[in-house]
Amino acid sequence: MDNWRLMTRTTSLVVFAAAVAIGGCSRATPEQQTVDDAAAALGGRDRLLAIKTLVIEGEGTNGNLGQDVTPEATGQAFVLKGYKRAIDVAGGAVRVEQTRTPNFAYFQGQQPQTQVFGVDGDVGYNVAPNGTPTRVSNAVAKDRRAEMYHHPVTIVRAALDPGAKLANPRTANGQRAVDVTTAAGLTLTLAIDETTKLPTRVVSMTDNPNLGDVAVETSFSDYQDVAGLKLPSHLTTKTDKFTTADIRVTKQSVDADTGNLAAPAAVASAAAIAGPPPATVTAEELASGIWLLAGQSHHSVLVEFADHLMLIEAPQNDTRALAVIAKARELRPNKPLTHVVSTHHHFDHSGGVRAAVSEGLTVVTHKANAAFYQDAVSRAHTLAPDALAKKPKPIKIETVDDVMHLKDDTMAVDLYPIAGSPHADTLLMAYFPKQRLLVEADVYSPASAVQPYAANLLENIRKRNLDVDRIVPIHGTVVPFSELLKTQAKSTS
Ligand SMILES: [Zn+2]
Repeated sequence: MDNWRLMTRTTSLVVFAAAVAIGGCSRATPEQQTVDDAAAALGGRDRLLAIKTLVIEGEGTNGNLGQDVTPEATGQAFVLKGYKRAIDVAGGAVRVEQTRTPNFAYFQGQQPQTQVFGVDGDVGYNVAPNGTPTRVSNAVAKDRRAEMYHHPVTIVRAALDPGAKLANPRTANGQRAVDVTTAAGLTLTLAIDETTKLPTRVVSMTDNPNLGDVAVETSFSDYQDVAGLKLPSHLTTKTDKFTTADIRVTKQSVDADTGNLAAPAAVASAAAIAGPPPATVTAEELASGIWLLAGQSHHSVLVEFADHLMLIEAPQNDTRALAVIAKARELRPNKPLTHVVSTHHHFDHSGGVRAAVSEGLTVVTHKANAAFYQDAVSRAHTLAPDALAKKPKPIKIETVDDVMHLKDDTMAVDLYPIAGSPHADTLLMAYFPKQRLLVEADVYSPASAVQPYAANLLENIRKRNLDVDRIVPIHGTVVPFSELLKTQAKSTS
């Protein structure tokens, strides 16, 4: 022990002497002072730099970003048990294991789901419950790499690295902040408490297809003493204004055996995923003037009126939405595509609305989505400029309250809100009275093992006296109405 102390002390003296030799008697810059103060408050620079691994265990919640019942709602969450985040601090790898249970009617059912995911260098991956790993996109891997620094130990260590750049020191609300660009080129903001000098939060910026440039911020509180360090036992992460993780730590271990945190070999050797997969759009004419545009996970429906075309759904992202729009124009090149109906606000269904606006389409949606879409088109997308960022246009929006009848000499379609659905309060269904087709998203997906929203859909169909022959789901294949009735017979028997 004495030897260890002596060595530490000698090392400190050498470092101090070197600093004096290089910097003369000049004082640390304000940005360096903030980092040095944080390091001292956490347990000292040497103690921090000696850490090899960190394992954080606890429980808490994950939010349901972009998938709650309204754009503003935050009541839905996944309750986390067995949360374990193992970080190879020196090697730059992290793996999270958790079991999450939805506190709401979830489309996969409300049973607990175990999740395993991580990042190792540039390689991000998920491990399915059956043990099969898959590589995630570069964008997701980059977000996970940034989140590795959403902890006092990792951010302050990164800031102490001689290869790091520190900039923009400022003080506000009792906190000192500094921007840290890590040696690997990631930029984050570190804030510390002016009094205790302990880190209060870390912020990084990322691109979200719906929200644009967003801040991901993790706040730290309830510091406790662990192995000669001060470590936070409460970590709360927000994306934009939405809480995405709230973790209460029950155990943290420094330099414990983390097991192997390397990316599974199968994903490490798999090709990097630079962006969303190329869009495949198939066209199937369901009735005269009505086409199902399918091909991947999220479908759209093209509707031909006498003098214009209308699309139902601009899903996912620019890639999908622009391909669907192009297919619509290819099918009927002599009629303008003027409108898109958005079935609901959920991010995977509304992720192409900005693209549709960039193509000049008027957005038709539930009145509860109007403010959300106004906001969505006004947001900055500088980190990953999308079609609308490159071709800005104001949104034209038409909202549905009780019903909207769209009719001319050749086509009629009625848009109804789906009232009282546990899936969302912003849903529209589209009914074609002549063809007896009903288009709906998420509330009945024929292949799903559980159908938590189907009873409500049926109620809405009956309340409106709709005489449905076939259901055209945004997910899955077109089925006779009897399939929905069978689902209900099963769930009530
Ligand atoms: Zn949905």
